Amino acid sequence: MAACKELTTDLVPEFVSSVDTILCDCDGVIWQGKNVVPGAQEALKKLRQKGKKIFFVTNNSTKSRKQYMQKFTSLGFEVYEEEIVCTAFAAAAYLKYGLKYEGKVYLMGSAGMEEELELMGYQHTGTGPDPSPSYDLDKWAALPIDPEVKAVVMGFDEHLSYNKLVKAGTYLNDPNCIFVATNEDMRYPYQGKVIIPGTGVLVQAVRAAAGRDPVVLGKPNRYLFESIMETHQGINPQRTVMIGDRMSTDILMGKNCGLKTLLVETGINSGEEAKEHQRSNSIERQKMVPDYYIKSLGALGDGIV
Ligand SMILES: [Mg+2]
Repeated sequence: MAACKELTTDLVPEFVSSVDTILCDCDGVIWQGKNVVPGAQEALKKLRQKGKKIFFVTNNSTKSRKQYMQKFTSLGFEVYEEEIVCTAFAAAAYLKYGLKYEGKVYLMGSAGMEEELELMGYQHTGTGPDPSPSYDLDKWAALPIDPEVKAVVMGFDEHLSYNKLVKAGTYLNDPNCIFVATNEDMRYPYQGKVIIPGTGVLVQAVRAAAGRDPVVLGKPNRYLFESIMETHQGINPQRTVMIGDRMSTDILMGKNCGLKTLLVETGINSGEEAKEHQRSNSIERQKMVPDYYIKSLGALGDGIV
C-alpha cells in the first residue's frame, strides 16, 4: 500500500536527493490557468540548481511546444523546448516515430496540433468549424471523404460537429485507419458551478461513432514517459518523481511507470482525498494514492536548502 505521507519541510531535502528527474504537470501545479502558483518559479530554479532534469508533462492538447514556450516565458519561468512534453507534440511524434505513418491526417483539434503535425511534415485536413447541414441523411452520406487519409487524430476541438463525427466514423470504418487521441480528461478544472467538459467527452463521442477505441497518449498512460525515456539517456524511473494535482491522471501515470509520486494541493485533489482513497477497499482507488502530498510546489521549494 502506498505511503501517502505529508512531505513536511524537514523531509524535503532527503526526498529531493532521492530523485534525479522531475516530471511536473502544469495546470494546478505551476500555474492555475493564467496565474502562477506562488513560489513555483523559485522551486523549479532551486531544483535546477541541484542538477535535476525537469520535464513538463501536460495532457492539454491545445498548445504546441512553441506556444507553451511563450506561456512559460511570459509567466517568468526558465524553460527549454525539449523539456515540454505536451500531447499536441506527442500526437505528431507518435505518428512519425512510433507508427512511421506517412499519409494524411484527419484532424479534430487545435492550431497547436496543426503546428506540431506540420513540423513533422504531415498534411492534415485543418481545424475550425465544419457545420452540419440540417437533418438530411443523403447530405451526410455525400460528405467528401479524402482517400489519402489513413489516420484520425483528435485532441480538444471546440468545433466538434455532427459532420466531423460522420467523417471520423467513416474513416475509422476502415480497420487499417489509425486512431489516436491526445488524452481523456473529462473536465477542465474550473472554479464554480459551471461544468466545462474536457477532451475525454469528445473522444467518447468519436469512439462511439467509430465503434473503436483510440490509442490514448496522455496520462495516466505510459506513453509520455516512455517517449522521454527514448529521447533522453540515463533516466532511472526509480529516481524520477511525477508531481501532479490530479490523482486519476498524474499520480496514476507515475504509478504505471514505476515512479515516485507527489500530489500538490493547488489543483484538483487534496491530501485528504488521497487518504480517503487509501482507506477505501477499492483497488482502483488505491492505485491512485501518491507516495507523498504537499501544500504546493512553492512549499517544496521552501524546503530545499
Ligand atoms: Mg493538472
